[in-house]
Amino acid sequence: MNPWVAKVVVLAATLTMIAVRAPHGRRSRTVKVVRSHKTSLEAGLLVLAWIGFVIPLIWLASPVLSFAEYRLSPGPLVAGVICLVIGLWLFYKSHADLGTNWSITLEVREQHRLITQGVYRRIRHPMYSALMLYSVGQALVIPNWVAGPSNVVAFAILVSFRVQAEEQMMSEAFGEEYAEYAARTKRLVPGVW
Ligand code: SAH
Repeated sequence: MNPWVAKVVVLAATLTMIAVRAPHGRRSRTVKVVRSHKTSLEAGLLVLAWIGFVIPLIWLASPVLSFAEYRLSPGPLVAGVICLVIGLWLFYKSHADLGTNWSITLEVREQHRLITQGVYRRIRHPMYSALMLYSVGQALVIPNWVAGPSNVVAFAILVSFRVQAEEQMMSEAFGEEYAEYAARTKRLVPGVW
């Protein structure tokens, strides 16, 4: 198949992701942070996520990664588009449900509330599930051994280090309320883990 199909899909998905995130990024700058857990590990993980996000854009815009190109086939393309669509929907919904409690890093904000409803009812990290689905979608759609998996690798590392630190921070902030919430929910996959 023509690789331009994959390029159009990746461009549309990237623009959708930026459009979903942008208003929350702007608004979060106006809500005071009362406690920050932004360690140097956390700062490094954010840089890694940024690199994982940019590599597919380099593939999109220039031929420098053409040495790693392979042939695009319809099966992975369709499966990838399904993952991207579900991932983007979950990304949108988790931002909407978290509202002013959202931060790009580990922070407790002024008047922070523990959200346990909407997509947070059964899992504690729907936004990370969304990002994992999105990056698996990209890996399937992008016919390139470097640009395809770059987001999966970056987010897998980010999630595996961040979840524990985030849960520790939330336990300190919400005590028993968080313990009860954690006891009745899973992390990323409803009913599984
Ligand atoms: N891990 C969550 C949220 C990611 S955004 C997810 O994947 O959906 C990260 C910030 O969200 C954290 O700094 C924390 O302050 C906040 N947060 C995480 N879970 C929350 C919850 N259930 N209610 C309110 N804020 C939460």
